[in-house]
Amino acid sequence: MANNRSPNPHVVLLPSPGMGHLTPLAELAKRLVLHHNLSATIITFSDHSSGGNQQAFISSLPAGISTTSLPPVPLDDLPPTTHIVTRISVMLARSVPDVRRTLQAIQKTTGKVAAYIVDLFGGDTLSVAKELGIPQFLFCTSNFFYLSFFLHLSTLQESPETAEPLQLPGCIPLQAKDFSRSATDRKSDEFAWMVHHSRCHNQLDGIMVNSFEALEDETARFFREKGEGKPPVLPVGPLITYAGDSVGNNLESCLEWLDQQPDCSVLFISFGSGGSLSQKQTWELAVGLEMSGQRFLWVVRKPTDVSGGGAYFNPQSTSDPLEFLPEGFLERTKEKGMVVPCWAPQAKVLAHEAVGGFLSHCGWNSTLESIVYGVPMIAWPLYSEQPMNAEMLVEKVKVALRPLQTRNDGLVRKEEIAEVVQDLMEGEGGKEVRRRVREIKEAAVKAVSAGGSSYAGLAKMVNLWKSLG
Ligand code: UDP
Ligand code: UDP
Repeated sequence: MANNRSPNPHVVLLPSPGMGHLTPLAELAKRLVLHHNLSATIITFSDHSSGGNQQAFISSLPAGISTTSLPPVPLDDLPPTTHIVTRISVMLARSVPDVRRTLQAIQKTTGKVAAYIVDLFGGDTLSVAKELGIPQFLFCTSNFFYLSFFLHLSTLQESPETAEPLQLPGCIPLQAKDFSRSATDRKSDEFAWMVHHSRCHNQLDGIMVNSFEALEDETARFFREKGEGKPPVLPVGPLITYAGDSVGNNLESCLEWLDQQPDCSVLFISFGSGGSLSQKQTWELAVGLEMSGQRFLWVVRKPTDVSGGGAYFNPQSTSDPLEFLPEGFLERTKEKGMVVPCWAPQAKVLAHEAVGGFLSHCGWNSTLESIVYGVPMIAWPLYSEQPMNAEMLVEKVKVALRPLQTRNDGLVRKEEIAEVVQDLMEGEGGKEVRRRVREIKEAAVKAVSAGGSSYAGLAKMVNLWKSLG
């Protein structure tokens, strides 16, 4: 651990396990170090599943950010089918003694820790910071809409289930089918864990949200106005990994391919760091893309329901995901399409001028990246809070189209896929969402520039840390 004794505040961040959590907290740390002259330590979990991406990512962090890794947390006693939320939660709960030791060591080296910052799973470790006299903050790596839902979870647990949509203040009405997935089964362990995390956050000294006012005006305003005299809840986003900073392994061939394509002509298709489709759905998507006649770049994953596949993509899986595409598909589409197995340098792809659309699972990082690079979307939510994000992006912000789902079996048919892809890339629907995403992109750039609301939000937090010191 580097010696960080300096007159400027030192902050410690604890992202929960997984790249999807590490990346946004690291972006927050970068902002604090590069724009506000703070120093930071990121406490990481040992990397089981990112296929080396975590280490590469950590090595790319700027000076001023130290990292220290927690010892591995054994989870062998959990059944292999244990839900990801439960796994992450158990890992956090079991790490409390190691977090205490690590925070004590950081306090010794730096003299003083001005703030301890966790994400939505970090609640169990807040008591350690409290014990050590360190102020406690949450970085909500999702949006205000999800934060409202998250903070409402214990009330939800206590209220009877109803067919009426949930109306959270300043938010669009939310049907139960669009709840964050772990809240759809109230008897499940993962729901109990999420309620537990939600309750832990009562003790916070402040919350930062990776969103911006122009994107969620009413919801952000609700937190601002109703929060008088309470710990601040402020927008600080969009904080994303910019194209120039993104890391990836020998993936530049897809960028070379994009160089050969006309401007705004390619649909990029990716389901985040963890998402994959069933075998049937993979087939429908392939045929639908082919029927659309549009250019595409598709990050293909091994289907969830083939032998050795799981609920989520496994980067250690050895089989070639391209084997699961329809026969002859690669040959027939080679003029117009490119498929890459498992991973693409997403930020660089979205920043490329050939890309004109993004069929996305609506993970919040992917959504912010799409907005920052002005790419309109097709919403295809899979898990977590993605159905909520999709609803907001289609109905409220209007930067995304959605395929019609004409049947009840959950499968999106090839005809519906072809239609929505054509509409996004060449149709009237596409024109409207493209115009709108450009507006929101401008607002996003303003928000994080000096004088912008998210810039001011972060500056206010930094001042609070200085005053608490
Ligand atoms: N990502 C990437 N290449 C891929 C898939 C994902 O670079 O092939 C990055 C993407 O740019 C984003 C993150 O992984 O920054 C995914 O985060 P998101 O919140 O969208 O979804 P999650 O992975 O949490 O479901
Ligand atoms: N999550 C994750 N990896 C996954 C799936 C989910 O880290 O592959 C995390 C994600 O960060 C999200 C949280 O689990 O914030 C809650 O997920 P949720 O239970 O809402 O959705 P589910 O995983 O049940 O579909």
